[in-house]
Amino acid sequence: MNLGNKKPEKKPLYVYYIIAAVVIFLLNFLVLPSIQEGSVITTDYSTFLSNVERGNVTEATVDGDYIYYTARKDGRDVRCKTVAMDDSELVERLRQAGVNMSKTAPERQSIFLSLILSYLIPIAIFILLGRWLSKKMMGTMGDGPGGMMSFGKSNAKVYVKSTSGIKFADVAGEDEAKELLTEIVDYLHNPHKYAEIGASMPKGALLVGPPGTGKTLLAKAVAGEAEVPFFSISGSEFVEMFVGMGAAKVRDLFKQANEKAPCIVFIDEIDTIGKKRDGAGFTGGNDEREQTLNQLLTEMDGFDGSKGVVILAATNRPDSLDPALLRPGRFDRRIPVELPDLQGREEILKVHAKKIKIADSVRFDEIAKAAAGASGAELANIVNEAALRAVRDGRKFATQADFEESIEVVIAGYQKKNRVLSNKEKLIVSYHEIGHALVAAKQTDSAPVHKITIIPRTSGALGYTMQVDEKEHFLMSKEELENKIATFTGGRAAEELIFHSITTGASNDIEQATKIARAMISRYGMSDEFDMVAMENVTNQYLGGDSSLACSFETQTILDKKVVELVSRQHQKALKILQDNIGKLHELAKYLYEHETITGEEFMKILENPVEEIVQTQ
Ligand code: ADP
Ligand code: MG
Ligand code: ZN
Repeated sequence: MNLGNKKPEKKPLYVYYIIAAVVIFLLNFLVLPSIQEGSVITTDYSTFLSNVERGNVTEATVDGDYIYYTARKDGRDVRCKTVAMDDSELVERLRQAGVNMSKTAPERQSIFLSLILSYLIPIAIFILLGRWLSKKMMGTMGDGPGGMMSFGKSNAKVYVKSTSGIKFADVAGEDEAKELLTEIVDYLHNPHKYAEIGASMPKGALLVGPPGTGKTLLAKAVAGEAEVPFFSISGSEFVEMFVGMGAAKVRDLFKQANEKAPCIVFIDEIDTIGKKRDGAGFTGGNDEREQTLNQLLTEMDGFDGSKGVVILAATNRPDSLDPALLRPGRFDRRIPVELPDLQGREEILKVHAKKIKIADSVRFDEIAKAAAGASGAELANIVNEAALRAVRDGRKFATQADFEESIEVVIAGYQKKNRVLSNKEKLIVSYHEIGHALVAAKQTDSAPVHKITIIPRTSGALGYTMQVDEKEHFLMSKEELENKIATFTGGRAAEELIFHSITTGASNDIEQATKIARAMISRYGMSDEFDMVAMENVTNQYLGGDSSLACSFETQTILDKKVVELVSRQHQKALKILQDNIGKLHELAKYLYEHETITGEEFMKILENPVEEIVQTQ
């Protein structure tokens, strides 16, 4: 049985009927006739007559406009067919040649019969099959005999432990979250232990974190660990076509849960129904959602916590939830499920790598380092991509190179081999990427270059420079952030310096640099001007972090000006670095242009060679 997001597929029934009709039609008109006729040869009338005269024909049947006959040819009987002519002597000729004659009467009944056989019976079979299927579908949707009429019933599935088998061990990292959830599992196992002291479990726990960090997986693991029934439903399943239906579903869900207590109820993506209610009721469009939410609040208050019903919910937008939901007595325990750190990433990679065959030489710590910022779901994807790449290359197991390529795939998209850059474009991209790398390398406190490539990617990137931090960063200093901005401007700076013209290739760099600069001033208090005053608030921290302005129009104008100043200061710095190292810039760009990819080691080797030596070899 499935938890979470899988819903039975509901294809409109009429599509099914149309397909069936087309299949029957084709069967009748194309396939069946050719089977029946098989090897019947069509001949013309004169051939038929000459065959009769030579005594080759043993038997002939007149059927409507056609004459079917059997002719002896090369010692074999061949079935033939010819168009009947208006021939009054035919019967006499056949008689003389001693042919067995017959004629098929145009039987009304046989037409009728064949119609039934070829159309009605198949149609009947299809209809019965369709009914049976749709009935089955209804059945799995949670309720037996009610069928179509039981709209208001909830789709919550009763979880059967043995079929899923996900345990805490399958969730790597996230130790904090697991610890908090273990307590809930323990409570469900021995409620009396808690009752003796008089402690009562929180009624609800809210799993909060960015997408793909394993919130749904954790809930499944709780189900696997606690041997109690597990109801799982997604917030969107409450949103119904008719007003009041969502509320009815909530009521039904809690009724079922109360009957099965002790048990766990899991509401995934709860923000779908739990959004803040807006005071103004003019629109009326949110009535349904509001009713559903109200019902949920009522039910959570209504049931007795000591009975052992624990409610888990998951969301990646906690700040959009209605405060009433987070009040004590409802989802009062928040369980953060954050992006994994270096060690967490390594563990997650190992958990997923168990499912595929890998070479002994694979270094998971290296891979985890290169995949900084990846979520659990992305890491699972990286492992799978590595396995796919191994298959594509006809190998039996995945190697380190497969993993490194698959990180790039997840970060930058697939290599797009058929996109051909002109030589001039290739040269510009080479200088651009080396510009980034050189600025990064010549500053202190910036991550070392791991790889540079100018092979275009499906994501649209014409090339990219990959930097990998040696260790994990939790705090970034002002200098580090400034260096980062300088590195982003390095690509464009190289273009300016060498080609004296600029291209569109820097659009993503510009976006990134602006984002950092803006955050430094408006959120991190890293400008002299504004001291520690927040000018922007992050509203959606787990989904990319939208920010909303929290300052006056005048201040905003100054803020914009400060951002421009900050970026252009770093841009000038990058230009200076490249100017000072222009020999290396040429040399490295030439190397990249010829090789298309350059590793961090090669890069450093060329960079550390004294310039004179290179001039001599050139
Ligand atoms: P969320 O609900 O937080 O968006 P999911 O629980 O659906 O994320 O995770 C998606 C997939 O990512 C999981 O099925 C699992 O394969 C992988 N995954 C995410 N986090 C982890 C983790 N901590 N350990 C192992 N696998 C993980
Ligand atoms: Mg989820
Ligand atoms: Zn760039």
